[in-house]
Amino acid sequence: MDPSTAKTIEVAMDPGTVLILRNIAYLVASILFIRGLKGLTHPRTAVRGNMMGAGGMLLAVVATLWAGGIISWGWVVSGLVVGSIIGVVLAVRVPMTGMPQMVAIFNGFGGAASFLVAGGELFIRLAHVHAAEAAASGSHESITSQFTIATALSGLIGAVTLTGSLIAFVKLAEYKITLGGKKIWLSNSLQLPGRHVISILVTLTTLGLCVAVVADPTTSLWYWLLVASASVLGVLITIPIGGADMPVVIALLNSYSGLAACATGFVINNTVLIIAGSLVGASGLILTAIMCKAMNRSLANVIFATMGPTAEGPSADDVYAGKIKTTSADEIAMMLDGAQRVVIVPGYGMAVSQAQHAVRDLANLLESRGATVEFGIHPVAGRMPGHMNVLLAEADIDYDKLLEMDVINPTLDTVDVALVIGANDVVNPVARTDPTSAIAGMPIIDIDKCRTVVVIKRSLSPGFAGIPNPLFAMDNTLMFFADGKKAFVEITAAVKDS
Ligand code: NDP
Repeated sequence: MDPSTAKTIEVAMDPGTVLILRNIAYLVASILFIRGLKGLTHPRTAVRGNMMGAGGMLLAVVATLWAGGIISWGWVVSGLVVGSIIGVVLAVRVPMTGMPQMVAIFNGFGGAASFLVAGGELFIRLAHVHAAEAAASGSHESITSQFTIATALSGLIGAVTLTGSLIAFVKLAEYKITLGGKKIWLSNSLQLPGRHVISILVTLTTLGLCVAVVADPTTSLWYWLLVASASVLGVLITIPIGGADMPVVIALLNSYSGLAACATGFVINNTVLIIAGSLVGASGLILTAIMCKAMNRSLANVIFATMGPTAEGPSADDVYAGKIKTTSADEIAMMLDGAQRVVIVPGYGMAVSQAQHAVRDLANLLESRGATVEFGIHPVAGRMPGHMNVLLAEADIDYDKLLEMDVINPTLDTVDVALVIGANDVVNPVARTDPTSAIAGMPIIDIDKCRTVVVIKRSLSPGFAGIPNPLFAMDNTLMFFADGKKAFVEITAAVKDS
């Protein structure tokens, strides 16, 4: 290399310039995050938004590594290798229906990463302080109150996010255990005896430890006790939430993971982490508010579990015995033959059976024969916010055909045939009629108002909330017991033959 060029690079790379360039990269990354989030608000721009967010993250990572001074390359490469191996194994092994649990656990890992980074930074700064004390300079400069407050917040929120997300994972995976011969669904609310007293004690202890972290910056003991106590708090907060309230919890934990990252950004003085964390925190809070509205619940109501299943409710036998009428693909094809307006309501079962492409094929066929086909989308259908929108977009179903619950509900009495595929709780009229039910007050798609309703599912098993659905026994309802995808393929074939 020409010596004069080498000199230019040396001059360009002085620490001040590096800092300026890194901050410019952070600024660009932050703009990309914000533009990416905006893009994600509409399906048409979502892919571009996603790419922008990912591009921003890549830029932030490259700028951080390039500016250096934080960690050795050996650790960075080891982390990348271990993380990539785990990522690839999970991507290959986890089925699509396992994604909601995966997202929950990723939120938890975000929380854990935040409190571990904050704990590491505390360790480093304490070592500096102790070294300075040993050298009798007495400098406490590197431990400011901004640092200790941010560290305490990171430990508190990060640990609550980790254990809360682990419980959310177990609930979303819908594990069952048998205790004393009784089957208990872990997705349901678990009310421990004396939980209010225990929760208050743990909350007070956790807050006390936050104060200790700030007041006594000479040891990391308080910090790790805080992490332990907040971990117990995360379990106590999430365990009683159940029934159909999990969407709110998922959104809230997502927000917490952002807030924990934001606090850690203050701990390590990293601007882009502060900005990205607050964006995740704020968008998670907005999503939480949307989910609360969708379920007609206040946040306090969900968190303190003041509602939920308050009575046993009627058994499946009481609701269904002698009242269920079944149908077949040929019969459904006959009904569809004369139908002007058809509405399809997808739910979690569509995700399980991966029926979205088969659903699109039937919708296209009916439209080509002159019927109007629309989709009724419930905000909490499936197992994660936006679950149905993502699946239907994947099948290239025109976004204009996806009608939100509030839009479609007033028009349902003009629908000739409604096809409900794998949806259960979100069309359960008990939400309107039984104030003691697990889903009482949750707005539902009033599909029972349609002229004819065909429910496609494999059996009379309950949905996530674990309660029977009187819709299945109504006069205008017919049950087609089959896997969602198989059923739609058969109906499409029968319509073609008719
Ligand atoms: P539900 O969980 O109420 O019902 C799903 C139905 O799908 C089941 O009754 C099941 O019946 C059926 N099903 C399963 N596999 C198949 C298959 N292969 N083919 C056809 N049907 C199938 O789902 P909804 O979407 O109606 O409601 C969502 C519920 O999940 C709500 O209670 C909501 O609160 C909760 N939730 C939502 C979250 C979100 O963010 N969206 C997050 C966490 C929870 P069968 O076994 O008989 O086939």
